[in-house]
Amino acid sequence: MGELLRLVLVIAAIWFLVYRPRRSGPHGQVSRNSSRSQSCPSVPMLRCARCGVYVPQDEAVTDQGRNFCSREHAALGQRQ
Ligand SMILES: [Zn+2]
Repeated sequence: MGELLRLVLVIAAIWFLVYRPRRSGPHGQVSRNSSRSQSCPSVPMLRCARCGVYVPQDEAVTDQGRNFCSREHAALGQRQ
């Protein structure tokens, strides 16, 4: 069950990376032509200290020098 949950979280993270709207546009418009050729994201990925899922740096929650995928995991702390 834990493995399945992790898999779903990884897929969700990838989906979010691919489909989330770009923040650079002043009017919130997504330019499909410019974003299509960009193969690798420029945002570095950080590993959650609780569950091991990789999340984009701007989406990660940092607590006491450690990175987490969500506020819930930051509250739970690092897995022993
Ligand atoms: Zn996590």
